Amino acid sequence: MNNLTLAALAVALMTSTSMAQTPPVKAPWDQAFLPPAPQWQGASQALIRDKSDPWVTAFEADPEHDFSPNYVDTRKWFDRLDAASDLIRIEQFGVSPQGRPIYAVIVSKDGAKLDPKKPVLLAQAGIHPGEIDGKDAGMMLVRDIAFNGKSGLLDKVNLILIPILSVDGHERAGAYSRPNQRGPRIQGWRNTATNQNLNRDFLKLDQPEMQALKSLHNRYKPDLYVDIHVTDGMDYQYDVTYGYNGEDGVWSRSPAIAKWLDATFKPAMNKSLAAEGHIPGELVFGIDEQNPKAGLSDGGLGERFSNGWGSAAHVPTILIENHSLKPHAQRVLGTYVFLETAMKLLAEKGGDLRKAIDADSALRPAEVLANFVADDKPTTSRDFKGILYETYDSPASGRSEVRWLGKPDPKPWALPFYGSHAGLTLKRPVAYWVPSYRADLIERLALHGVKMEALSQPKTVSVEMLRLDAPKIATVANEGHVQISVKTVTKEARDWLFPTGSVRVPTDQPLGDLAILLLEPQSSESFFAWGMVPEVLSRVEYIEPYAIAPLAEKMLADDPKLKAEFEAKLAAEPKFAADPDARLAWFYRRTPFYDDHYLLYPIARELAR
Ligand SMILES: [Zn+2]
Repeated sequence: MNNLTLAALAVALMTSTSMAQTPPVKAPWDQAFLPPAPQWQGASQALIRDKSDPWVTAFEADPEHDFSPNYVDTRKWFDRLDAASDLIRIEQFGVSPQGRPIYAVIVSKDGAKLDPKKPVLLAQAGIHPGEIDGKDAGMMLVRDIAFNGKSGLLDKVNLILIPILSVDGHERAGAYSRPNQRGPRIQGWRNTATNQNLNRDFLKLDQPEMQALKSLHNRYKPDLYVDIHVTDGMDYQYDVTYGYNGEDGVWSRSPAIAKWLDATFKPAMNKSLAAEGHIPGELVFGIDEQNPKAGLSDGGLGERFSNGWGSAAHVPTILIENHSLKPHAQRVLGTYVFLETAMKLLAEKGGDLRKAIDADSALRPAEVLANFVADDKPTTSRDFKGILYETYDSPASGRSEVRWLGKPDPKPWALPFYGSHAGLTLKRPVAYWVPSYRADLIERLALHGVKMEALSQPKTVSVEMLRLDAPKIATVANEGHVQISVKTVTKEARDWLFPTGSVRVPTDQPLGDLAILLLEPQSSESFFAWGMVPEVLSRVEYIEPYAIAPLAEKMLADDPKLKAEFEAKLAAEPKFAADPDARLAWFYRRTPFYDDHYLLYPIARELAR
């Protein structure tokens, strides 16, 4: 029920009886509490079809353009379109944990097999189902390509639209999913049925939705991948913000792609959006909720996110974040313009983008930067189109809070901009060796499309193995994992026997950087960091004091160097000297009885010889 209906009901109750009635108390969540949005009129409003159109979408038909259809109705509409147009084909590419088919809409003039010479735009909506603008925009655009004179968009480009990626989350729908977002009035839920955030799963590939997405990626190799979201966070004038790793010439794993996006894509895209009445902006994040002018950051997005993965995998990837305080209709229309313009740009300039993809795919950096963290100091300043605000003392929070006023500040803000820097530099080995008994990890590498050589018989290989120094187990769960971090490692040269089915993962391949980020235990995006190799943290076997004590005494008598080392430690560390068990453990670690596999990371590096 909306506010108007509630008010009408209250009036009806008041007038229909002679008894004095208390009007129903509106709960805080049924009242408007979001800051106002500036009035918006844009040329793109002309894209909305009338209710009388047989192909009107549910979004368009809604009088307030504040509605997005559910999973079943969306699929019915696309099936009807598929039956009516040769340009449309539905392709199921996965099944969700709750059993819903996950599908893409292939929009092409090529028939069953897409012409590999044509660039492919992959537009994905609903990885966060409450942020569903891409579905409603995609339905309109696909319909207009099929019936309303826009089929020419397909002459040189193919479009693949995923209307809803997180289909289960999409159906956990209600009016109370996204408190910071202005519509649609019924929204899906951010996480999946298994309470996972799919936009954290681009590297570890835990979830069926993401495994399915990855196989779709590998099948169609999109030239441009657009992941469509809606923001949270601060207010500003921009309605369509978007970004990519390497924007504005900052460091990227795919510099040639970033350059194409900076120099070719962005100026043309922004011009097109502005011509249709939209206000495009860069994807940035305020660093202080209480002080909007404190500065902006790039968000430090790693490889678990779409744009981080895209940069590492050399897949041009744009993260759209439409602004949550702008009405749903304004955001949907901006997304339509974005997608249509992206198709035109791929048609005109897609050849140059392919060259950039090839150039980046050929990179084999000797050092791979990882574990990006926010800079302490701003690196540059950005002009920013701000919204006026005031502050007030909130009796609820007990501090000063921001009140956004919904009016554009005519003066541009100059805001300090905080970038990110690598917290870890990794050397590129020739290859990695993954033992056969970690078939689960091998399977994930294969899903990524990483090329591997499997052993058909056991083989002893000279490798560098890593002994983990004091790994730390996280105290809270994250994305269904208990994460483990390790700051330092000790290298050990070993001849190690790898069983049949073990794989060699060469780093001399386009996905070499990605393999390094996944397989180095210190990388914060690695399988190890997600807690997927916890078995190395358990030490097995022990020695009784009655056995180790005489053995230790004999070691002291036989080895003067060891004796000197022990005595120095006793003198330097009184706590150690006062702990009999610690003293005996010190000797045990120096015997061949000690568990050699303890803290020995089972994935090995092959180095150049
Ligand atoms: Zn999102």
